[in-house]
Amino acid sequence: MILDECHFATPKQIETLRDIAESVPVYAFGLKTNFKSLLFDGSKRLLELADSVEELKSKCACGNPATLNGRFTKGFMQLEGEEIVLGNNLYKGLCYSCFKKEIFRSQVYGKVCKYLDAFKDRKSVGVWSTDTARDSMVVERPFVIYDKDVQEFISDFDEFKTKDSKDILIVEDNVKFLEKIKISDKDSQYMLMLITCVFKMEKNKPGMLKTLIESGIMTKWLNQIKKTI
Ligand SMILES: [Zn+2]
Repeated sequence: MILDECHFATPKQIETLRDIAESVPVYAFGLKTNFKSLLFDGSKRLLELADSVEELKSKCACGNPATLNGRFTKGFMQLEGEEIVLGNNLYKGLCYSCFKKEIFRSQVYGKVCKYLDAFKDRKSVGVWSTDTARDSMVVERPFVIYDKDVQEFISDFDEFKTKDSKDILIVEDNVKFLEKIKISDKDSQYMLMLITCVFKMEKNKPGMLKTLIESGIMTKWLNQIKKTI
């Protein structure tokens, strides 16, 4: 007996199949894991009960054996959704490192779209403030109290910081310089680094982020990421 697509079977059906294997040989074929890299219930039960398991690996586009399956929509891997969705060319076999890269791409793309939306036509994203100490003439340097969108933007994009110390950007901490950076030939990695550089600069030169968002420069940067990710 041959069973194909055994990942669609329920654990109970696999148990029945195992009983059948007492009298006739049974060969079951199917995927081990779903698009989230988790075992299908049926495949899990099959691995538990099978007398022997042989992995047939296809090839990832990079040449390594594909061990995982990614589900793609419009060029981006889906991170959420129903376990079973059928369709042509939806799935791609991937090795672990390409699977991780695709997760990163999808997360960046999702966040870029979110903030392109949030920063669209925004006149103000924060207010200047001075932290005047009570009963004292000392006036601290003015700083910007940013709204919720910008605070979330900083924490979301800080996550995408590159760990590659070779790629250090040479950028000056003034808006005039940042505005003039030619971005059309820059990749998403560069743009992500540029944004996290600005977060660092904001600590010493408050208001840079405010100017970049309100002038629309940040939107151009985000669009460049969207184009190149
Ligand atoms: Zn690969």
